[in-house]
Amino acid sequence: MRLPDFEYVEPDSIQKAVLFLKEHGEESKITAGGTDLFPSMKKRISRPSYVVSL
Ligand SMILES: Cc1cc2nc3c(=O)[nH]c(=O)nc-3n(C[C@H](O)[C@H](O)[C@H](O)COP(=O)(O)OP(=O)(O)OC[C@H]3O[C@@H](n4cnc5c(N)ncnc54)[C@H](O)[C@@H]3O)c2cc1C
Repeated sequence: MRLPDFEYVEPDSIQKAVLFLKEHGEESKITAGGTDLFPSMKKRISRPSYVVSL
């Protein structure tokens, strides 16, 4: 299955990550290694508009 459409966000500071999540938290998911998040997105269990890489 293909990943649904989403915007990949790579903040280059914690402050920027916090600011982004404050503004878009409801429609975002944080990712670290992605080994759980991306398979769940492929299965449409999770459909964030933004994936924020920490
Ligand atoms: C092939 C394979 C084998 C596995 N074997 C095992 C096993 O033997 N035992 C086991 O326990 N697990 C196992 N797992 C599961 C694995 O432990 C999890 O997939 C892994 O811990 C997820 O870490 P990640 O960094 O990839 O998380 P991600 O997929 O990046 O994120 C997982 C969830 O945590 C959230 N998240 C990530 N970072 C943060 C953060 N900083 N703050 C808040 N929320 C955050 C994400 O939004 C998401 O909802 C396996 C997975 C795979 C793919």
